[in-house]
Amino acid sequence: MSYEHIEPPESGSKITLADEETGELDVPNDPIIPIIHGDGIGKEVGPAAQKVLTAAAEATGRDVNWMRVYAGETAREMYDENLPDETVEAIREHRVAIKGPLTTPVGAGFRSLNVALRQTLDLYANVRPTYYLDGAPSPMKDPEAMNMVTFRENTEDVYAGIEWEAGTDDVEEVRDFVEQEMGFDETMHDGPIGIGIKPISEKGSKRLVREAIDYAIENDRDKVTLVHKGNIMKFTEGQFGEWGMEVAEEEYPDEEVFAAPDSLWEQEGEVDIPEDAVMVDERLADAMLQWMQLRPDEYDVLAMPNLNGDYLSDAAGAQIGGLGIAPGANFGHGRVLAEPVHGSSPKNAGENKANPTALILSGRLMFEHIGWEDTGTLVRDAVEKTISEGDVTYDIERHREDARKLSTDEYAEAVVENIRELA
Ligand code: NAD
Repeated sequence: MSYEHIEPPESGSKITLADEETGELDVPNDPIIPIIHGDGIGKEVGPAAQKVLTAAAEATGRDVNWMRVYAGETAREMYDENLPDETVEAIREHRVAIKGPLTTPVGAGFRSLNVALRQTLDLYANVRPTYYLDGAPSPMKDPEAMNMVTFRENTEDVYAGIEWEAGTDDVEEVRDFVEQEMGFDETMHDGPIGIGIKPISEKGSKRLVREAIDYAIENDRDKVTLVHKGNIMKFTEGQFGEWGMEVAEEEYPDEEVFAAPDSLWEQEGEVDIPEDAVMVDERLADAMLQWMQLRPDEYDVLAMPNLNGDYLSDAAGAQIGGLGIAPGANFGHGRVLAEPVHGSSPKNAGENKANPTALILSGRLMFEHIGWEDTGTLVRDAVEKTISEGDVTYDIERHREDARKLSTDEYAEAVVENIRELA
């Protein structure tokens, strides 16, 4: 494909699909990887993370050929639109990409670019590993106990965005239909009302839970917990739990995956799990927020519908040091788009002070997903060494007495040095 503004790198090979059914990728040693630096602090953390990830690939005998692609403010300047087709096509064609944060301008009718990208590319699982890095500030007494990975459904539930505004003809039509045709005639208050509906499908639930179970098997995790609010929303959230359990019961051999469909009402420890099997259990979302703080060591991989995943992954991130270090990635069938949890933080933009760790560790996740485990581990170890030795950006320095405050660039340089030292 020829591009208007994107300049493909001079060398490098494409990542391709090795197996249509499983989505397994064929990854060359010199892949072309599209990168969006992002808006606001993305303009600083983007290049910084790129430098660190390049160094880690080189140190493990590989070569990333970055291809800058554009979205958000930068795209508006170049193309006069926020999400150019060629950006979406380049990411689609190259299958594995990484992005910094994009600003969502406030205003009616403006869809989040992040949501648009995830939906257009059908990146149905948002994955966020939450683990403690030595030296990171944490409000917890025992932050090392947290080592969870959240899988959040990315395409439906409240992300489907089906809502009607109070005072419109449309909302009154929906109200009439619900009251008169569907028989819920004593459910809604009189006067102005907003109405939203949330779809949760068998397809969306099952592929998300499958992705979480596969991840647990591949990464030697003990447990996948389905987190929902099925006691109140029986036919959406509850159904998510039932479909998730069906995946566990029907699609994997017992010795590999042990489904515990009654776990919602049982105490921990009552169930006998075959050795080496991944256990799939359930928790209600409100209780899970509590267990995450009180017994983080008992949980491992969490699989959730969209809104629960939003709350729980941010809460988990707060326990291990906050947004500056919380990484993520969006997985689809045979594709991945890595991105940090944080946004473009306009108030810190242009000051060369933001923390690039979240984007760097999102790159680690991307490397692991393409089978470069050694590169990913090197990234993590170098980041941890840098932070634990007290070389940190402002957001971490202000919580520590023994640390030096570095700029975004200086911090990235320190991580690169540690990569070379550890390699
Ligand atoms: P934000 O994540 O940008 O910032 C919240 C606060 O977290 C900041 O004020 C800052 O104190 C801290 N922070 C975030 N990232 C940091 C970093 N790397 N280093 C140090 N401190 C950091 O959230 P917001 O202010 O609510 O949103 C700003 C914009 O970003 C909005 O337009 C929003 O829509 C967008 N956003 C984008 C994404 C994404 O691209 N995936 C995610 C969230 C928000």
